[in-house]
Amino acid sequence: MINIDRALNQGSSILKKNNIQSPRLDSEILMSKVIKKDRKYIIFNLDKEIKKSLFYDFIDLIKKRSLGKPIAYLTGKKNFWKYEFEISENVLVPRPDTELIVEKVLSITKNRHKLNILDIGTGSGCILISILMEKKGFYGTGLDVSKKCIDLCKINSIKFKTEGRSKFIKSDIDNFSCGKYDLIISNPPYISKIDFNYLEKDITNFEPKLALIGGIDGLSAVKKVINKSSELIKKSGKLILEIGFDQKNKVIGLLKNKGFYINETLKDFANNDRCIISTKI
Ligand code: GLN
Repeated sequence: MINIDRALNQGSSILKKNNIQSPRLDSEILMSKVIKKDRKYIIFNLDKEIKKSLFYDFIDLIKKRSLGKPIAYLTGKKNFWKYEFEISENVLVPRPDTELIVEKVLSITKNRHKLNILDIGTGSGCILISILMEKKGFYGTGLDVSKKCIDLCKINSIKFKTEGRSKFIKSDIDNFSCGKYDLIISNPPYISKIDFNYLEKDITNFEPKLALIGGIDGLSAVKKVINKSSELIKKSGKLILEIGFDQKNKVIGLLKNKGFYINETLKDFANNDRCIISTKI
């Protein structure tokens, strides 16, 4: 037997040695996964003893984290917007910056009670499901090329009881031509092949490249999304896109070419251009 405090200290020191940025916090999160209690319990019960077998499970996770594996993949969960989504290594870990899309959708649809939404490249389903949770009269379709993403979306939609208002379909956007939508949202893979190599190792070694890399210039998926959206969107419908920090002007050009009016662009928490809101005219 070993007490929680000593186990956490050991975990933190291993993580620290391996240059993991928040060693104590990560240790607490992994401990809470192993002993199936929340972090508050851990903080108030540092002197409680845990079984040797649980300690070994904990150290096992600590070793994986030491290699850079994102904490969300180790816990299988990630908080996004107001909810805790189920996550696997097959999906991009939802990012706080992507909550910008949810926030914007809610503000522009304040007075709407019924809306049909398409989410292109839905991943874990985090954007679409978060919106459906806030707006009980909204319906949505989520597309992804990965069957494993679609399976996870279905698990999340059942978890949040939005399965009656959402459909998740395995499809490339090019092969999808079903319905007309009031609102289209997408956080497509927009990193260029070269920039990808400069991302943190935690990302490049563990997150799906398919969810991150958008061809040589990072714009190949963005172009597909814009082209197809211009067919799938209703007149006066809005398209909300997440983009790379240096893509604003190029994407504005692509949108205008396809008959979209640019409403505004939004900056992320690091003050980079991150989101474009446009309207089909
Ligand atoms: N829509 C999902 C998200 O924002 C997945 C995006 C992606 O895989 N590029 O997290």
